[in-house]
Amino acid sequence: MRRICVMGTGYVGLVTGACLSDFGNAIVCLDIDEERIDRLKNGELPIYEPGLEELVTRNTERGRLSFSTEIPFAIKSSEIIFITVGTPALPDGDVDMSYVFKAAEMISTFMEDYKIIVNKSTVPVGTGVEVGALIGKSHADEDFDIVSNPEFLREGAAIDDFMRPDRVVIGANSQRALDAIVDVYRPLYLRETPMVLTNVASAEMIKYASNTMLAAKISFINEIANICEAYSADVTAVARGMGLDERIGPRNLYPGAGFGGSCFPKDVSGLGSIARKAHVEVPVIDAINQTNICQQQLMIDKLKDLLGSLSDQTVCLLGLAFKPDTDDIREAPALRMIDALLVAGARVQTYDPVAMDNTRALYPDLIYAADPYQAAQGANALVLMTEWNEFRNIDLPRIRSCLLEAKILDCRNLYEPREMQELGFEYISVGRPPRRPGDTPGEEISITPAATPYPSFQ
Ligand code: NAD
Repeated sequence: MRRICVMGTGYVGLVTGACLSDFGNAIVCLDIDEERIDRLKNGELPIYEPGLEELVTRNTERGRLSFSTEIPFAIKSSEIIFITVGTPALPDGDVDMSYVFKAAEMISTFMEDYKIIVNKSTVPVGTGVEVGALIGKSHADEDFDIVSNPEFLREGAAIDDFMRPDRVVIGANSQRALDAIVDVYRPLYLRETPMVLTNVASAEMIKYASNTMLAAKISFINEIANICEAYSADVTAVARGMGLDERIGPRNLYPGAGFGGSCFPKDVSGLGSIARKAHVEVPVIDAINQTNICQQQLMIDKLKDLLGSLSDQTVCLLGLAFKPDTDDIREAPALRMIDALLVAGARVQTYDPVAMDNTRALYPDLIYAADPYQAAQGANALVLMTEWNEFRNIDLPRIRSCLLEAKILDCRNLYEPREMQELGFEYISVGRPPRRPGDTPGEEISITPAATPYPSFQ
């Protein structure tokens, strides 16, 4: 049993703490946010993540997991310290490293013996060296080691991703630290999880390169979807045809409203910023976020086309979270849609299974409904923004009877166009020909594969 503390109890810190305690380690999860820690001490989770509550309860009951704001004591009594604080984007696209450096300062101030400092936050290449230099001002080189252990979990599937990762990346510049962190992940050896053992800078780069590649796939398929629309091709068939090529693969090839969340947009701009600092030209990387912004605007334009104008319309918006199975609304495409609707003078009636509280804090004046049918009541159109499972099996005839006008903008291609037409909807989706009740079946609708067979992405 190793004594480990985790600095930062957000999505990554809480999942890391809970999972490492489940591996049998003694974990203290730390935060500077006292309210957050109080809630955790009372058994209340500050975030929604499937399976997390059960894991936290089990390990706190067994005495392996605790929560604290007593950072000095926790640092002194831990042999390994994980940094899992936020690294948000600054307005110019650069990475705000202030939380990481503050955490490093705290470690430097309170550590009294050898520590392994593991950075799990997503940080620019070179951060390990900078954190080492900061701590090295007050401590001898042999008193600490810096490790980079980037996290690849997806919100909504975070526990499974941590317990059954595609790979674990550990970057260290000392054998002692490398061996210790490999040992922390030893339970994953049972599953033969590949371990990528490398130096600190390479590990830092792997994280940025991976997220940027995933975001690039989404922006790429969104551009393909828009070309498909111009030529009456069906992007669902195109993506399937592409994805069966093993060099491409099917995942993250879903067109939609653009990516959001706390990682992709800021990591793409962060990598561009890192490249510019090194005088490296990266036009491909720069284009990823630009395409994403255009895609979010395109959804707003599609809704304008569907309704004629957004002004004085009532719009039912289903889904607020940036992806299903999370309450996280950071950079969610739904928020851009809400902004456009409110600016145009539209009324928004919305429903999301878990993200309404977070949204209400930002937009107190929307109508928050108890279910999708209440949200659709009397609306001029329904816009589907997040592909929650709950929306896949919605009672569409009932939705139609609730709506004032049978118009749907499906930003996630959740429904089958032909079926929507048969149900009497005017139906717009992404990268597929629009369908209206009076349309006669044309060549463009002859091959429409059934609903997407792949799990959600990001
Ligand atoms: P978050 O914003 O949800 O949580 C960060 C927490 O750190 C907050 O509770 C904050 O109060 C706390 N904190 C800040 N300074 C602190 C300090 N000095 N000591 C203790 N606690 C402190 O962040 P997150 O979404 O968990 O992301 C954390 C990092 O992991 C980021 O770098 C992010 O890019 C990366 N990451 C996130 C995800 C994800 O899906 N959210 C996935 C992989 C990697």
